[in-house]
Order: sequence, then structure tokens, then C-alpha cells
Amino acid sequence: MKKFIRILGLVLTLFTLTVVVSACGSKPLSQRNVLKTDQQDKTITWGVKADTRLFGLLDTKDGQIKGFEVDLAKALTKQMLGKDAKAKFIQVTSSTRMPMLKNGNIDAIIATMTNTPERRKQVAFSNTYFYAGQSLLVKKGSSIKNVKDLNQQKGTVLGVVGSDSVENVAKVAPNAKVLQLTDYAQAMTALKSGQGQALTTDNGILYGMSVQNPGYEVTGGTFVSEPYGIAMDKNQTPFKNSVNQALTELRENGEYAKLLHKWFHNVKGFDYEEAAKE
Ligand code: GLU
Repeated sequence: MKKFIRILGLVLTLFTLTVVVSACGSKPLSQRNVLKTDQQDKTITWGVKADTRLFGLLDTKDGQIKGFEVDLAKALTKQMLGKDAKAKFIQVTSSTRMPMLKNGNIDAIIATMTNTPERRKQVAFSNTYFYAGQSLLVKKGSSIKNVKDLNQQKGTVLGVVGSDSVENVAKVAPNAKVLQLTDYAQAMTALKSGQGQALTTDNGILYGMSVQNPGYEVTGGTFVSEPYGIAMDKNQTPFKNSVNQALTELRENGEYAKLLHKWFHNVKGFDYEEAAKE
């Protein structure tokens, strides 16, 4: 009888463990077939920015994240999985996007993320969907007009943790002090309160800030190329191929150009034709 109870206990424990493990879906990402499960669920889970006007910004009125990348992710989802498919959005920042992908919280990152050789060691990138370049945002009338001035005047430049912009600016303006904030909303607040003389990131993001803050301007042109790619797990080649195919189709059928125009045609001084470069 004792033996029977022991065996019963063991069976129950094993059963509970199996239920818990399968409920968490905790197969490592490398062993999952993201494209297959997304096709079954008719859903793709995208990591998007929520602090970046024009690309991905949370609208506090309706709780929706809005921007070019959000629209592009929706269009890609339908192109890949059919008209009735759904795009699910999870907020990421420059520093959380990579761990969120690695942990399997999201299927892909579409969040102003530059395809760099360093990052390619960790993730796979789609073809370029937005060709940006790093620049500076300053208060109108500032004595800093470009990175040379920033370097000469030993100014403080604001950036965001996890972005490559902070490393790039340290290389081109080694005399400047770099202050890193957690996200772009905080970086803009820091610029306005005078914690730095310039804010650095990609031109598209900076134009988004200048639209909202007319006392500030993008200056000095671009000093590093920043081609954005959709980042995915390295083992998900079928998913990556499907993303690339859908991206090509959206470029061919004119939908990509429509979205680019929708978000950027009103942005004064920004050459969005350049951003369409592959
Ligand atoms: N594109 C740059 C990067 O990938 C800066 C923008 C961002 O912080 O997302 O790091």
C-alpha cells in the first residue's frame, strides 16, 4: 500500500510538472519554429518602441502605440499570414529589446534598431526597411552646429542606454561628455532642462522630437549610417525569409511607400526618399 501511494505521488508530481512546463511554452527559442506557430495562431508578436514619435509612440488617449514601424509591422503580418492575421505589440526600449527577443517574449524587433556587425553576432537581421543616419538635436541658436563643435566645446551630449549612438558619438567627439538616459522621452526632458547641450540619435527620431518641440532643431547632417533591420533569433531562418519576402512585396505593391509618406511627408527638412534606400 505504502509503495502504491509513493508511486501515485510520483505520477502526480510528474503530471503537474508537465502541465506547468507546457503551459509556459518554455521550449527554448532555438527549438521552436516561430513561423509555424505564428501561422497556426495567425499572430506575430513584435517588439516596438513606445517612446519614439514617428516610429512607435504610445498614445495615452487610447493606449495604442502608433508610428511607421507599428504600421509596417501590421502590413508585414497580413502579407505573411493573411488578411485576418493579427499583429501583437510589446513595448521595448533600446536596452530591453535584445533580452526580450532572447527570452522569447517577442518574435521580432522592429524598433529603430540598426543592423551592425556587433549585433549580427547575436541576432539575425532582415533587409533594411529604413535608412537612417546619426545626427544631433540642439536648442535653436546653440553654438553647437555639428559634432566638431561638440568636441571642441567639450559639451555634454545626451543619449540612450543600449543605443549604438552613445558609442558612435564617443568616437567622433572624444572630448564630449556622454550622459545616458533610459529612453528617448527622458533624454528629451534632460535636453530641455539643460543637462546637456545636444541630444544624439538617428535623424528620423530627432525630427520626431523637433516636430513636438519647435524650439529645437536637427543640425550638422548625419555622421554615421544607421540602416534599420528587423531583428530575429538566429535559428529562425524560415521566419526571416518570410519577413524578407513580405518586405519586398510591400515595396513592390506600393504599400511601403504609402506608409513612409504617411508618417514623414509632413516632417520639414527630412529627406524621407533617402530613408527608403535598401
Ligand atoms: N539606431 C540606433 C540603434 O539601433 C539608435 C536608435 C535606438 O536607440 O533605437 O541603437
